[in-house]
Amino acid sequence: MSSQRIITDKHFVHPLFEQLVDMYYYCNMISDPFYDCLSVSFHPVVNPLLECLFLGFKKGTGRGGFSYGTTNSPFMNYRPRVLISTVKDLVVVVCFSGGKDSTALAMRLKEEGKTVCLYFLKGINKSYPDEYKRAEKVASILGLPLYIDEIKLSGKSAFKENPMKNQVVATFALNYCLSRGLGTTIVFGDFTEDTADKAAWDRNWSDTVEMWDAYRTVIQSIIPGFQLLTPFKNYTETLAIVSKNREILENVQGCLAPMRFREHWREQNIKKYHPNFQVPLELLPHRCGNCWKCCVEYIYLVDNGILEYNMAFYVRCLRRLADKLPTEHPYHSGVKTIEELYKVYLPGVSIPDRIKVMTYGQVTS
Ligand SMILES: [Zn+2]
Repeated sequence: MSSQRIITDKHFVHPLFEQLVDMYYYCNMISDPFYDCLSVSFHPVVNPLLECLFLGFKKGTGRGGFSYGTTNSPFMNYRPRVLISTVKDLVVVVCFSGGKDSTALAMRLKEEGKTVCLYFLKGINKSYPDEYKRAEKVASILGLPLYIDEIKLSGKSAFKENPMKNQVVATFALNYCLSRGLGTTIVFGDFTEDTADKAAWDRNWSDTVEMWDAYRTVIQSIIPGFQLLTPFKNYTETLAIVSKNREILENVQGCLAPMRFREHWREQNIKKYHPNFQVPLELLPHRCGNCWKCCVEYIYLVDNGILEYNMAFYVRCLRRLADKLPTEHPYHSGVKTIEELYKVYLPGVSIPDRIKVMTYGQVTS
C-alpha cells in the first residue's frame, strides 16, 4: 500500500493535531484503491472518516449507516488530552495559497479593518512546488505578513490530492496561531454555495462544507472559541474582488495547467486568436487559456470590461466549458442554454447582450 506520510519537526504540536495528521495518512490509504476509477464509492470512503471524527470526539453523536461502528473505529483510542483556553481573537489567519480565492479573502478582510495574517503550508501540494513563490509575490503586493510553514510528504502518492488536504492545512495554521498567541480564527477560501458538495469526487472532498462542518465540530470540542470561516459563496465573488486590482489580478495563481505547459499554451493561443479583423487576444500573464479556470476568468473579465472582447476566443472559452460539463459537472447534464451554462460556471453573472443572441448549439457544435 502506498503511503503519504507527513514529516514535521515542530516545537509545538498539540496532541489533537497529531491525531488529525494520522487521519490524513489513514484517509490516503483508504482512498488509494479508488483513485483511478471514477466511482461514487469515494463517498463511502470518506464518510467513515467523518464517522470517526464524530465517534472519536463526540461520543454518541455518530450517524448510522457507515462502515465503522463504535467498537471498531480505528480512532476510538484517540481522545483530546490537553484543553486549551481560548485567547481573545486578535488576528484572522487566512490559509493562503496565492490563488484567487484566498487572495480575495485577504483583500476583503483587510478592507473590513481586520488584522490579517497569511499562512502558507509548503510541501502539501506536490503538483505545484513553486506555488509559494507566487504566494510571496501576492502577499508583498497586499502588504500583509506571510508565514511559510513546511511539511514533507513522501511516498508515490504524494502528488495526489488527499481528501483531508485542506483540513491538514487548517490544522497546521491553527497550530501556528496557538504557538504565537494569535487567537483561534482561521479563514479558508472554500465556497458555501459552490458545486463542491454536489461533486465531491471532481472538486475534492476537502473543499466541501460537510468536511468543514465535521472538522469545526471536532476542534470546537477542544477549543470552544475556535472559528473556521468560509465567507464566500462562490467563485464569482472572488473574481469580483480580485479583478478590482490589476496588479493582483496579474499575479494571483489562477490557472490549473502544469507550470511546464502554461507559457507554451498561452503563446499558442495568442498566436492563434489574432485574426486581422479582431482585436488581439489579451490573456493575463501566467494563464494557459485552456483550463476551465482560465476560460471562466476570461469570460468574466471580458463581460466586465477589464479585457478586450476577442470574439473567437470568447466563444472558444464557452465551447470549452460546455464540452467539459459532462465530465466535470455530470449533475448538470441537463444544461441546454448559455444562461444555464453561465449559472454553472459564473453564478450570479448576467449575460451580455452580444452573447444572448447566440444559441447553445453555436457554442457546442
Ligand atoms: Zn489555465
